Amino acid sequence: MTTTTHVPGFDMLEDRSLLRTAAYVDGTWVTAGESGVISVDNPATGQEICELPALSRAQVTLAIEAAHRAHPAWRALSGKERAQVLRRWFELITEHGEDLARLIVVEEGKPLAEARGEVAYAASFVEWFAEEAKRIRGEIFDAPRASGRVVVLKEPVGVCVAITPWNFPAAMITRKAAPALAAGCTMVVKPAEQTPLTALALADLAERAGVPAGVLSVVTGHASEIGPELTGNPLVRKISFTGSTEVGRLLLEQSAATVKKASMELGGNAPIIVFDDADVENAVAGVMTAKYRNSGESCIGGNRVYVQSGIHDEFAAALAERTAALRVGEGFDEGVQIGPLIDAAAAAKVAEHVADAAANGARVLTGGATHARGGRFFEPTVLVDVTQGMLVTREETFGPVLPLLEFRDEAEVVAWANDTEYGLAAYLFTKDAERIWRVAAALETGMVGINTGLISNEVAPFGGIKQSGLGREGSVHGIEEYLEMKYLAWEGSGAASRPA
Ligand code: NAP
Repeated sequence: MTTTTHVPGFDMLEDRSLLRTAAYVDGTWVTAGESGVISVDNPATGQEICELPALSRAQVTLAIEAAHRAHPAWRALSGKERAQVLRRWFELITEHGEDLARLIVVEEGKPLAEARGEVAYAASFVEWFAEEAKRIRGEIFDAPRASGRVVVLKEPVGVCVAITPWNFPAAMITRKAAPALAAGCTMVVKPAEQTPLTALALADLAERAGVPAGVLSVVTGHASEIGPELTGNPLVRKISFTGSTEVGRLLLEQSAATVKKASMELGGNAPIIVFDDADVENAVAGVMTAKYRNSGESCIGGNRVYVQSGIHDEFAAALAERTAALRVGEGFDEGVQIGPLIDAAAAAKVAEHVADAAANGARVLTGGATHARGGRFFEPTVLVDVTQGMLVTREETFGPVLPLLEFRDEAEVVAWANDTEYGLAAYLFTKDAERIWRVAAALETGMVGINTGLISNEVAPFGGIKQSGLGREGSVHGIEEYLEMKYLAWEGSGAASRPA
């Protein structure tokens, strides 16, 4: 497969061998796609940067079969032995962090400082689940009859599939692969078509770390061609997906025929609620973080901001001032805070949301249009006089747009916040402890940030309710998604059977 010469970022790589333009199947780098190629571009320039093989459905079947063959030996290792391999993978990701960050900037577009942050976040899951691999434990307790005991073993689910989005090309993979491998599962990963290079570099480092052939494969190709194999092959026992709710629904449907376990990290429409009694400076900083991380292309990004009447105008002015000062540019530019959007369709969606708001009475305080750089760059935007019915409020905008809605009281804002099919994250800013408990309990989301705009870390259970998903990633719970319980009804093991 080809790479275009003189791609900024590629030229900067210290270890050029991390730039893989082949799929990784059963420990082999596969350069020939039977269904042609996929093309990767740089969102900042629109320039094609490389081509990768588009695997056929039959080639993906081979990856699944390899994962099935590799499973018995991998699960037979002790947790400690698997932990050692994962620990080595963590160390290599950390050692090559700068190169991984550069690959993320080139294919995803985010600012280099954020890409470095993503690599650290991605690595933290590998470190965490290397530690958790040693702590998988079952249960033993008394059966109803004194002569028996209930023994519960935890066993790996088997062959798993991960399908991941483009917005966090490293972290969305390690958040799935690390717990899967720690639990003794094997995994076939299909990264987003727009960001396969980071995934392949991670696979390269996993190979160097000693992950055996077949235990972790990365397949590249067109979702419509290979998706049905990933979701339909009976050897696959679990599908773990991060992406849009729309595609999540489809994958659940496709997996139903073979009754696979499923984890779904889907879309969000996070409300941020700022009460009159909030620490305004902290709340402004929190909203800026929750909104503008990854140029607004984050599932937990604040999508709509509700500000109580007493501080609304002051708050809007402060946000507009901070937003207007954001530096927009290519990810490698010094001090850049907002990069390009992933593709032309994403930029068009953001423009459509802003136009819809303006047409329905919203006012633009700052931004509101394609950035002077053109292409996929959009001006960081603050809108006021926004209402519940507008697209910016109802749908995930996935761009650098902050729509502000004014509210009067707690009951009103909780009702507005919950008026959505999504239930991923919410944020609230207030100094009133009783209100924190009350509102956090009333919000229909899997996660609530309180007086902070930053909620993601490897220690906490990440995930949504309603149509934002099924299951949790990270934390002590994340590994359970890759474990099954086996119950042994063990007659003769109970207290009454033991000598007095
Ligand atoms: P997407 O369009 O749903 O795609 C996600 C992944 O699914 C990609 O790898 C895509 O492959 C694949 N896919 C699409 N159609 C498929 C099919 N028919 N069969 C098999 N695979 C298929 O989402 P996205 O645009 O990449 O990501 C943005 C979305 O992800 C947002 O909604 C965001 O909220 C959500 N997200 C959620 C979380 C979370 O933790 N809850 C985290 C990050 C992002 P191709 O690239 O080849 O089309």
